[in-house]
Amino acid sequence: MADEKFDAIVVGGGIAGTVASYLLAKEGLEVLLVERGNFAGSKNVSGGRIYSHSLEKIFPDFGREAPVERKITREKISLMTKDSSVTLDFYSGSLGKQGSDSYSVLRSVFDQWLAEKAEEAGVQIITGIRVDDLIVREGKVCGVVAGEDELEADVTILADGVNSLLAQKIGFCRELLPNQVSVSAKEVIELPREVINDRFNCQDEEGTAWLFAGAPSGGRSGGAFLYTNKTSLSLGIVCTLSDLIKGDKSVPQLLEEFKQHPAIEQLVRGGKLVEYSGHLIPEGGLAMVPKLVGNGVLVIGDAAGFCINVGYAVRGMDLAVTSAECAAQAVLAAKDKQDYSEATLKLYQTNLDKSYLMQDLNLYKNLPHFMEATPRIFDGYPQMAADILTDLFVVNGQPAKSMPKHIFKHVRKIGIANLMRDGWKGVRAL
Ligand SMILES: Cc1cc2nc3c(=O)[nH]c(=O)nc-3n(C[C@H](O)[C@H](O)[C@H](O)COP(=O)(O)OP(=O)(O)OC[C@H]3O[C@@H](n4cnc5c(N)ncnc54)[C@H](O)[C@@H]3O)c2cc1C
Repeated sequence: MADEKFDAIVVGGGIAGTVASYLLAKEGLEVLLVERGNFAGSKNVSGGRIYSHSLEKIFPDFGREAPVERKITREKISLMTKDSSVTLDFYSGSLGKQGSDSYSVLRSVFDQWLAEKAEEAGVQIITGIRVDDLIVREGKVCGVVAGEDELEADVTILADGVNSLLAQKIGFCRELLPNQVSVSAKEVIELPREVINDRFNCQDEEGTAWLFAGAPSGGRSGGAFLYTNKTSLSLGIVCTLSDLIKGDKSVPQLLEEFKQHPAIEQLVRGGKLVEYSGHLIPEGGLAMVPKLVGNGVLVIGDAAGFCINVGYAVRGMDLAVTSAECAAQAVLAAKDKQDYSEATLKLYQTNLDKSYLMQDLNLYKNLPHFMEATPRIFDGYPQMAADILTDLFVVNGQPAKSMPKHIFKHVRKIGIANLMRDGWKGVRAL
């Protein structure tokens, strides 16, 4: 392998890396994809649900061809206390319409499908090899160092996921801060298809995306998620690292407790654990986006911090695809000009700025700070919702009180001023 020179080397066989390498190979470039896992997807984790809009542009009708699990037609959000759950349940055909559809996926299967597509297009994929360093000469990245091998390329794309050590090595970003990442633990629990359909009140191909706030993260910044697959459930806990270290419970402990919650236990009952994983999620938003382009190098996907958690939805996979596409367009333009300088590759940044990706990151730029500065979202408000509904629904022979009185009693515990302030800041952050 030594001394071979490629048009492009892509580091990381996740969604961003496989899509970028596919798009380049399809246009005739010699592309090498290096993945440290034993196969593409072996180390990758998501909740997960992928919004189709970005991948659909690359693989039209991918929802039919790709190994997706279920089309999401039901969205749920729950505020939880230790023994209660207040849920918003949204079912709509419009969630499944082409262009705005989304699918639950299992990454180990889905990423392998993408890798096959890349290989068919001509990408050389090597797995089980970690890129340790980048070859840098006179301020230009000229390839990668992997074990004993030095592999050269006109351009190197860093798609090595959250906490990109390679981007850090070339000074594009600093070490991650604890408030910029969440720690997650996830389980895949197998259940028969009919049991899932019964428990989630859906047809064979329909799926549910469900996010939880409050007790699942121990009242700390974070939450839980649950997605229905064909014959399994994906569920897990996410907790911001800076908040997690203040508590006395680990994420795996929180996940165990979540599964025991009375509203969840009945959904996972009788299931068989078939996969367990842990991963970081970049959640710092725009503030954590590193330098994205240099001479001979581009950073895409999670490595670039492209992930958005708005509380009711998590998005990273569609952003990974879009950043891969924007980067591939810039590399193709550089190839035409035979100029891989930062000035030419800057087209990547221009493409991103024009896309929804940067516009969305800009829109939500204050959200990470709002979440961090408003702990009531994760303890006070779920408790308030549960208390109000308990008073409304529990009938025990005591004289009834008027509804406003009930509500006001519990709102006062939070404080009207706090409620108004949080509401105002929340609206502005979203
Ligand atoms: C618990 C959880 C839930 C999530 N839920 C959702 C969701 O529901 N919807 C959604 O859209 N997003 C979700 N996300 C985010 C989403 O998973 C990521 O945004 C997405 O996977 C990013 O893709 P990527 O290709 O950039 O990175 P990754 O998928 O992380 O891929 C990076 C790849 O690089 C490889 N690699 C790393 N370093 C090296 C190296 N030095 N040499 C060689 N290979 C290397 C890794 O092995 C990996 O295969 C979730 C994330 C987590 C952790």
